[in-house]
Amino acid sequence: MKYGTIKWDAKSNQLLSTVCRNCPDPHFQRRSEELPHIGCCAYEPVFTLFEIYKMIAAGETDFFMEQLYRNPRNTIYEYEIVAGAFIHPLFYSRGPGESESPAERYERLRQSPHTAYQAVDERLAYAVCQFFVDGKGCGLNPHFKTSICRSFICDAIEERLSEEERKQLSARQRMIRDEAEPFHRKYRAIFQEKGWTLGDNIEEIMVYLQELNQQKAE
Ligand code: SF4
Ligand code: SF4
Repeated sequence: MKYGTIKWDAKSNQLLSTVCRNCPDPHFQRRSEELPHIGCCAYEPVFTLFEIYKMIAAGETDFFMEQLYRNPRNTIYEYEIVAGAFIHPLFYSRGPGESESPAERYERLRQSPHTAYQAVDERLAYAVCQFFVDGKGCGLNPHFKTSICRSFICDAIEERLSEEERKQLSARQRMIRDEAEPFHRKYRAIFQEKGWTLGDNIEEIMVYLQELNQQKAE
């Protein structure tokens, strides 16, 4: 599949677009010229058991432990890891004539359930994914990218596609999701049954996933 604006990278099962170099999506425009232009990589990817398994299966256990699991910037949930973004210093400073910094605005907005979603946007406007490399783009091994990172295509790009291309796009996006999500659900259920979580039982989970990889290879 190769559209005018989207490429299918079959090796890594991911969608890519040349449009991203000059991201036109209004939602992802930066608030200041001082902020790097990174499009939708102002994001905190959520690594599921599927991506964790892929790292273990590729023999990248050290990468998983050091870059994801033990990284103090990251948050370990029961079966997922959120890779915390770098937050630009401008987030903490008040601009000329402003009564609050973006960080203070963020704190105010998150106090109410009616404005909590605005708080998220406020923070992400100053965020840079920890895997983003200036001048290059995503610096993460594409095999380890989350299914969202491999499949997300914004409205600004979709609007440029024909009806037929949109159908092909959603088929590819479905394919990416259908590979990752059932795996995560299946092994989350198994680990729940065993009473294991990423936070408390990382050794057991690593051994389990290594054995799973060996079984699949046999
Ligand atoms: S997918 Fe859309 S929002 Fe994301 S960088 Fe590309 S053009 Fe911008
Ligand atoms: S992992 Fe890569 S593609 Fe995903 S948000 Fe980070 S830099 Fe962008």
